[in-house]
Amino acid sequence: MPQSFDDLLYANRLYASQNEILGFDGIAHAGVAVVTCMDSRIDPLGMLGLAPGDAKIFRNPGGRVTSSAMEALVLSVHLLNVDRILIVPHTRCAMANNTEAELHQKIGASAGMDATWQRFHVIQDDRREIRADVARVRAHPLIPASVLIGGFLYDVDTGLLETVEA
Ligand SMILES: [Zn+2]
Repeated sequence: MPQSFDDLLYANRLYASQNEILGFDGIAHAGVAVVTCMDSRIDPLGMLGLAPGDAKIFRNPGGRVTSSAMEALVLSVHLLNVDRILIVPHTRCAMANNTEAELHQKIGASAGMDATWQRFHVIQDDRREIRADVARVRAHPLIPASVLIGGFLYDVDTGLLETVEA
């Protein structure tokens, strides 16, 4: 069991002493917002050739356009300089490789208690759901038609993005 956060706080002091983004405003300098998965194999800025300060990044399990992702996108477009939105789920995602029942079973076994009350937004067909999520953003009344919205599948083995809907 981990004992403390000391290693991370030590690293943070080094980071703060060298940090070039201190003093940045909070807007997305490249005009980009990305909705992607929490998966640790994904580097959302690096995979697009972007740097800190360039983009708004919203992550959740699966990289889905949930209601809180939509909230982030509306803020990004109106207040934070975003005019391009990328929806980026990925290959070999746990949210696509398990049914909700399987996740309930696995997490219930790990937790030693019933987990069926916890909702998981699993993905049944990744390309179909990417198209549906792009359509959902396009149809949102607070997202202007001038905003470019694309859906992409990130391949965690090659590092390449496949354009699914753009
Ligand atoms: Zn994932």
